Amino acid sequence: MIEHDIKNLSEDALAGWFDRHNIAVYRASQVLRWIYHRSICSFSQMTDLSKDLRRLLSGEFTISRLDPVRIQASEDGSKKYLFLLEDGHHIESVLIPERRHWTLCVSSQVGCAMGCKFCLTGRGGFVRNLEPAEIVNQVCAVQNDLTHPNLLTNIVFMGMGEPLANYDSVVKALVIITSSNGLQFSSRRVTLSTAGLVPRIDDLGQDVTVNLAVSLNAADNKTRDVLMPINQTYPIEMLLSACRGFPLPSRRMITFEYVLIHGVNDRPKDAKKLVGLLRPLRAKINLIPFNPFEGSTFKRPEEATILAFQKVLTDHHYTAMIRQSKGGDIGAACGQLRFATDNSQRTL
Ligand code: SF4
Repeated sequence: MIEHDIKNLSEDALAGWFDRHNIAVYRASQVLRWIYHRSICSFSQMTDLSKDLRRLLSGEFTISRLDPVRIQASEDGSKKYLFLLEDGHHIESVLIPERRHWTLCVSSQVGCAMGCKFCLTGRGGFVRNLEPAEIVNQVCAVQNDLTHPNLLTNIVFMGMGEPLANYDSVVKALVIITSSNGLQFSSRRVTLSTAGLVPRIDDLGQDVTVNLAVSLNAADNKTRDVLMPINQTYPIEMLLSACRGFPLPSRRMITFEYVLIHGVNDRPKDAKKLVGLLRPLRAKINLIPFNPFEGSTFKRPEEATILAFQKVLTDHHYTAMIRQSKGGDIGAACGQLRFATDNSQRTL
């Protein structure tokens, strides 16, 4: 008999399985609550199910979990979790402290095919997509590591990988993360960030309600073509048109991330172009000064340049926050996650 990881299944799919076995479908919610609300990893511990049902489930399904093989703490309070997957690959998640809560940045792929020039993950290339369970288990593992799991309130899909390039698994994981019998995160507190896979932005808006962030990083196609090769397929006009069509609940905005790189995209005229581009949108902007890494020729702009760029945006009434990436000292800052063959593996 083939065993399936039950954490790869949506509640509907599991209810369908119960239905096909002539078992009341409400049992699906019961099982999921054991798994996601009580962190139970064995059917034998589900004491409100009959022994026969527990035996049947054990024969059909496994309940996977991920345990970190290494946790690195940064001086700024953030933590990087390294996970070893069944096939020997590694992924990383980063826990970021906010004033009163934690945000977890999860990975959606091993490596990434997008090749953004300012990103270390992109340099390693693409290895494989993550299963829904491998995404959800990053959240479960970090919750288990926290003294107060409820302090983890926000999830961002900004780790390794382009989430929309692993669409089906990511949507399944999003449903599990936000559903009442799943991990119960508020959809207001879950954000998916994309490099701009335009057709999938349209799909995402139809399939789930989460916040959208777009990694923009340039206000003209010539610069963006160089920084983000995906722009050659889906240029800025197509990307922003998809953003205009994205269904936004009231009072929510699309976040545009803009990695500021010295001499490349950090001039006041770039900021003015950005203002023009974003005008028709409900938008806020996160400015992320570039995190230098070995082998990159890019540099972080001077502080005055960063502030001048921000001022152009705020003068035009945009919320534009300068995000100092956390975890730079442990290779956990934005765009610095790297898998498998980096130094981290050698220290295990
Ligand atoms: S920035 Fe994101 S989409 Fe671009 S290469 Fe890095 S991980 Fe991939």
